Amino acid sequence: MTETLIPDREEAAAEVAGLRLRTNLFIGGDFRPARDGRRFVTENPATGRPITEVAEGGVADVDAAVAAARSAADRGVWSRIDPGARKQILLDWADRIDASARELGLIETIDAGKPISDTVGLDMPETASCIRWHAEAIDKLYGQVAPSPEGTVATITREPIGVVGAVVPWNYPAQMAAWKLGPALATGNSVVIKPASTTSLSLLRIAELGADAGIPDGVLNVVTGPGDTVGAAIGRHPDIDCVAFTGSTEVGRRFLTWAAESNLKRVLLELGGKSQQLVFGDVTDMAHVAANAAVAIFWNMGENCSAGSRLIVHRSRKEELLAALQTELAAWPVGDPLDPSTKIGALISEQHLDRVLDYVHAGRAEGARLVTGGERILEETGGYFLGPTIFDGVRNDMQIAREEIFGPVLSVIEFETEAEAVAIANDTAHGLAASVYTDDLNVAHRVARELTAGTVAINVYAEGDMTTPFGGYKLSGFGGHDKSIHAHDQYTEMKTTWIVLKPAR
Ligand code: NDP
Repeated sequence: MTETLIPDREEAAAEVAGLRLRTNLFIGGDFRPARDGRRFVTENPATGRPITEVAEGGVADVDAAVAAARSAADRGVWSRIDPGARKQILLDWADRIDASARELGLIETIDAGKPISDTVGLDMPETASCIRWHAEAIDKLYGQVAPSPEGTVATITREPIGVVGAVVPWNYPAQMAAWKLGPALATGNSVVIKPASTTSLSLLRIAELGADAGIPDGVLNVVTGPGDTVGAAIGRHPDIDCVAFTGSTEVGRRFLTWAAESNLKRVLLELGGKSQQLVFGDVTDMAHVAANAAVAIFWNMGENCSAGSRLIVHRSRKEELLAALQTELAAWPVGDPLDPSTKIGALISEQHLDRVLDYVHAGRAEGARLVTGGERILEETGGYFLGPTIFDGVRNDMQIAREEIFGPVLSVIEFETEAEAVAIANDTAHGLAASVYTDDLNVAHRVARELTAGTVAINVYAEGDMTTPFGGYKLSGFGGHDKSIHAHDQYTEMKTTWIVLKPAR
């Protein structure tokens, strides 16, 4: 994928006008309206104006999707085909997503407010490569033969769990869907997936591309609609075997309750964080630290579960880091997401912008010093824009240091000793991702071991890549990990087959 694919502002506007949007539920291989005909408006967060109406699914639609998924599973049209054939179909799907990256990126930009340079240049290529990575693994994984006694043969094999329900968020609509769909489909499951209501459009088109690639009818179903009806129906459904969720901790807890109250379905939760970036006194390249720290909190408008929202810096270097961050801000223009030079687009909704601004007010009220940002901007566009916001003088007990803000709001916290840095870093309910900046290998290894986080990056802001698992400690995660081969295990059941051999005659 190259930069040349990213349209300029005029091309983007013309292509948006020509988009043919899919707005119905995708069940059993067909687009269809909701049973009761209801629809809801999806709006462009950069203008506040409606884009289109999307089918508002309900409990009956979830039932229909689960029935289609179960039928596909029972008939073995996906789970029992030659693994090489399943691989080829998923590879074809990935190619089609790549070929449609510009169309999909435009859809996601108008639906989610995300910069076009990210949606076309990053999100769609990563969506395709995620599907491709899991597809490639399909015909390379082996079962096991146990060291059972003489006269017996015992095999340990993996089987698809059956019907997987997935409920995904709005911050990376296509990518988060791919993180679930890639391993769930690669391992032979049928899936019923619900996108966030604010961002339904790209997934509907991606599902259609899957059907074009040859995913059999009923194997991939998309039910759009509200979380408290469609999401809850997935959580409660007695014929869904596993539910994979990315979103808020509050909703994640409900899936655990529903699993306990229904059929003990397996629950996989990825629930956000309050991630720490630790900057030690010995770092030599402060510009590098600032550039990475900015990516960590301003990328995707800070609407990122692994956002590095707490910058914990040695007292002796804090002013220098703040100055370097101010310089770095020039690289983060806020504006029209369809403009390829924009790095910070619109927040997902007015309600979410207000929520983030409430945190800004809370930070000020608790005595943190607002260094920059903190005000709604570009209001004349009708969109929900907030520029990069930095608070200095934050204590780790302040609300802005404890709760996930999910916006471009950075809290700078000082420390004096390594022990103090680790204590502050770990003093959080979450544990998703962390960064450590130091030129001392000893500090890097010591601190990486101490941090209670699922991913620790050294001298960079990073979540790893497709080869590495992604998941959290504490309130950030439960039940499994996205990405890597470890994601395959969670969508499968483990079977022992025990064979007693007859003695030779
Ligand atoms: P939610 O957790 O509410 O939404 C995530 C997904 O869950 C969406 O598909 C949503 O559907 C669905 N959902 C919502 N309510 C229910 C419910 N009662 N039962 C089942 N499914 C439900 O996140 P929000 O959009 O409300 O964002 C709130 C906060 O959550 C953010 O500010 C952030 O802190 C955190 N968050 C974390 C994410 C992450 O990547 N870990 C992603 C998104 C949010 P619908 O859109 O229809 O409501």
